[in-house]
Amino acid sequence: MGVFDEIGEEFEEVVFFHDPPSGLRAIVAIHSTQLGPALGGSRFYPYATEEDALHDVLRLARGMTYKAAAAGLDLGGGKAVIIGDPKRIKSEELLRAYGRFIDTLQGRYVTAEDVGTTGDDMDTIRRETRHVVGVSPAMGGSGDPSPVTAWGVFQGLIACAEEAWKDSSLTGRRVAVQGVGKVGYHLVKHLVDAGASVVISDVDVDAVARVVREFGVDTANADKIHAEECDIFAPCALGGIIRDDTLPSLRCRVIGGSANNQLESPEHGEALQQMGILYAPDYVINAGGLINVADELRGYDRERAMAKVEGIYRTLREVFMVSGERAISTSEAADHVARDRIERVGRLRRYWVPGRSAAGPRAVW
Ligand code: NAD
Repeated sequence: MGVFDEIGEEFEEVVFFHDPPSGLRAIVAIHSTQLGPALGGSRFYPYATEEDALHDVLRLARGMTYKAAAAGLDLGGGKAVIIGDPKRIKSEELLRAYGRFIDTLQGRYVTAEDVGTTGDDMDTIRRETRHVVGVSPAMGGSGDPSPVTAWGVFQGLIACAEEAWKDSSLTGRRVAVQGVGKVGYHLVKHLVDAGASVVISDVDVDAVARVVREFGVDTANADKIHAEECDIFAPCALGGIIRDDTLPSLRCRVIGGSANNQLESPEHGEALQQMGILYAPDYVINAGGLINVADELRGYDRERAMAKVEGIYRTLREVFMVSGERAISTSEAADHVARDRIERVGRLRRYWVPGRSAAGPRAVW
């Protein structure tokens, strides 16, 4: 398939950057600026082929449009990939060249940290362009997003409890948390404070020991936590936990956690629906990190970011309502809510959004 066939009609702009002296080869995909500048991380990864890199950046950019829209942000969706092994080729020269390229997009794309890039890298990029978020607090940035993400997941679980049990209280609910890293740790704290009974697992024994010591929670075997008898299963480790071989052993009423790509495929969302398990779509419930970095665009204020994250509760309530009304899975309902906002709010903004032609808007959906 040719490059233009792969891009299709759905994307506003796809830019290839090449800087031979530093070895930089990067692709930026701007999926939509209908709601505002396209924000999305820079993934630095040793793709086997350029086709794989293009495929990934398009997929990820599209996902960011939905995520930002569902989060109620005035932001569009975009993403970047830098091709190569960051351990081998990442250098100040390369990151600065990358920053200068980003700058040429004049704010239509705003970058951030992703797999293979760090907060320090964002600081380096910041020296060449202001169109980057997730920089260090010393440079006016927001610092570690994990506590904000965890707070968003906690708010989302309250919406789940209301939907599943018509009772927003988590007191006495049994919650199984898979992964007690940066997000899981803070989530456990909120759950324990709310009176939930928590069981955790992690492949890192030190992480488990710390959480047990601080919060007195139960532990489960790392490869069996999804099968724990509980009210809520909260995946906060890796993606792909809901798949053919784990589905039959689930013993929960609700699934909601921070991990990205929890469903191995969309069909698994439908399977959960049929099993009577309420699934909080990952990109809705884990949007706290995005909401947090997006706040940097207004001059970062932690309190404001935390308050905005509480909107995750309302979005999930809407997602569950749409899912019920249309008899569709919660994942499909989330996409519907996002598309609806793009159409509704995008219509209000269409004539002045940067990146749009003077001829007026073109339908993205
Ligand atoms: P992290 O690396 O700090 O924590 C992940 C934890 O999961 C680690 O302690 C790791 O040892 C553990 N783990 C790995 N494999 C496991 C397994 N099989 N069973 C149990 N535990 C396992 O990462 P994080 O920042 O806490 O993020 C957790 C998840 O949430 C990731 O999927 C991440 O992409 C997603 N996420 C994070 C944020 C954020 O703000 N940090 C925002 C959105 C989404």
